[in-house]
Amino acid sequence: MIKDNIEKVRHEIDRCRKNCRYKINDEPVLLVAVTKNHEVAAMREAVDASVTDIGENRVQEAKRKLPLLEREATWHLIGHLQTNKVKDAVKYFSLIHSVDSIHLAEAINKAAADAKKIQDILIQINLVKEESKSGVYEEDLPALLAAMKKLYALRLCGLMFIAPNYDDPEKCRRHFARMREIFTQTSKDSDFSATMKYLSMGMSHDYKIAVEEGANIVRVGTAIFGERDYTKEA
Ligand SMILES: *Cc1c(COP(=O)(O)O)cnc(C)c1O
Repeated sequence: MIKDNIEKVRHEIDRCRKNCRYKINDEPVLLVAVTKNHEVAAMREAVDASVTDIGENRVQEAKRKLPLLEREATWHLIGHLQTNKVKDAVKYFSLIHSVDSIHLAEAINKAAADAKKIQDILIQINLVKEESKSGVYEEDLPALLAAMKKLYALRLCGLMFIAPNYDDPEKCRRHFARMREIFTQTSKDSDFSATMKYLSMGMSHDYKIAVEEGANIVRVGTAIFGERDYTKEA
């Protein structure tokens, strides 16, 4: 089941990538399997079926699952990060997708410096100013970028976006296109041009459109693992 779902998703990614007229670079699209509220057995199945990258929303949940997943995987933190969890976040995650304030960037930078690590991060943009979502507003991005230049233990690898949950995912297209423009603009800055390579956008209901508009990381949970059961923590 999981294996078949992954094959289907990969097939759709390949098909939509061919339709993409605006590739930000030639990196292949990275499929991050989102495993929040799913059990480690399901995660093993996904990794056995060629998944290399795992996305978790919460540091605590990832910390508990990590030692149980004996297989090799790259871990992505895709959920909102609180400053009191940055030490663990730096320890466990290869890429943090959800940096959205100077305060948080500084805290991660300090934790990374203490751990003698260069932490790869994405900046999450709240393009549509949804109150329920984290992310920096577009107009606050320049100040965050300016602050990032002095944070030597952070490496800015790109941008992340969570689209509004429209009934018709086609409505997300213009937001994805706008994100690609912001990506292009940001990567013109000589401080970031060498390291910016990821545009993380697209989830189960909208990843096809995201890929067509230039996403090269998609974060897919439900289409691989089925519906999440929030009544129990995996
Ligand atoms: C849960 C989650 C996903 C995956 O959502 P699905 O609809 O299950 O594919 C992707 N990105 C983020 C930030 C999430 O929290």
